[in-house]
Formats: sequence, structure tokens, C-alpha cells
Amino acid sequence: MVVAIDGPAGAGKSTVARASAEALGFTYLDSGAMYRATALAFLERGGPAADRARELDIELGRRVRVEGRDVTEAIRTPEASETASRIATDPEVRHALVDRQRELMSSGDWVAEGRDIGTVVAPDAALKVFLTASPEERARRRAAEIGVDPETVLMDQTLRDEQDRSREHSPLRAADDAVDLDTTGLDVDQVVERIVALARDRSE
Ligand code: C5P
Repeated sequence: MVVAIDGPAGAGKSTVARASAEALGFTYLDSGAMYRATALAFLERGGPAADRARELDIELGRRVRVEGRDVTEAIRTPEASETASRIATDPEVRHALVDRQRELMSSGDWVAEGRDIGTVVAPDAALKVFLTASPEERARRRAAEIGVDPETVLMDQTLRDEQDRSREHSPLRAADDAVDLDTTGLDVDQVVERIVALARDRSE
């Protein structure tokens, strides 16, 4: 069974998806980490980004490794974030990473998180959730997480949101059959509880 969790940056996807996977006993897939890892390799070695997306040895888990090197922190810098969002507009990069994500999810139970899981990667997912929160709340959460001031985060976030929503290929949008979940004012446990209940419901 696949649970797809999509939504804009800072909506709480990672925390919520990881905790939901744990509660359900499913494997967690952070698709954004694949775009970030590709972006980092592109920054360090140059293009074309699609070649990096196809060939890179990416290991996902508590720590993210690229060709065996721990890049968990390196892929979270503002530069890596911005570059990830930029290379994610390239259809060849998307194609390569979507293929890899589908391959990973071809067996077993997954909670996969990203922008296009419910619309492109796993359109048959048993449960699709579109997580949102107000822009200010999202910026505040991410600022607390990475230790930068909220105003700077809000500026970067607005730019990335715009880039993710307006790109030609696989723009960020909720699947028609997605459950909209606004997490403003909710804590992680409440959101996870709701997702777990929905997933159990759908698996019956
Ligand atoms: O989710 P995260 O912020 O780590 O993703 C980094 C960037 O990768 C996003 O801003 C987005 O542009 C891109 N992305 C994507 N499709 C996904 C996951 C991430 O385009 N499924």
C-alpha cells in the first residue's frame, strides 16, 4: 500500500510522513532528498543535471548518502534547496527520479512524501494527502528547524513555492482525490493520528 503525502515546503511533510510511516510500520520515502542529492552533485560536479539524476548512487534513510558520502546536512543548505527547486523544473531530471521512486515503491508498503507523488509517481496510491499550512507558519517551522531567521526563510520559501507551482512539468498541486489537510495550529501528533486513521480505513 502507498500513502502519498504532497504539499509545499514547510507544511510539515517530512516530520509527518516519517512519523506516519513509523506508526503504520511502512517504509518512508523522502523524494525531495533525491532532488536535493542530485542538486548537490550538480553544484559540485557540474551538469547536465539529468545525468546526475540517472547515475547517482543515493542512499536514503536517517542519514542521506551519495556515493557513500554522508550529505544529510549538505543537502539542506539554502543553496542546495534553491538548486533542487531549479533542477526539478527539468523534465529529464524528473523522469529519471520518478522512475527510481516507482522502482523503489514497486513492492512493500510506503509513505512517500514530495510534490508529485499523488499526481505522477503513484497516481494509484490508496491514500493521498495534501498537507498545507499558512506561509507564515511554514516559514516559522522551517526557521526553527534550520536556525535561520523567519523572514529570510519566508522570502526563500515564497520563491520556491512560486517555482514549484508554476513550473511546466509536474507543478505542485493536489491530486483530485487527495484529502486536504491544513496543519496550521495542529501539532504533529494530531496530524499523524488523522493520517494513520485514514490509511487504516483505506486498507480494510
Ligand atoms: O521536499 P524538499 O523541500 O526537500 O524538496 C526540495 C525541492 O525538490 C522542492 O522545492 C521541489 O522543487 C523539488 N521536489 C519536486 N518533487 C518532489 C520532491 C521535491 O519537485 N517529489
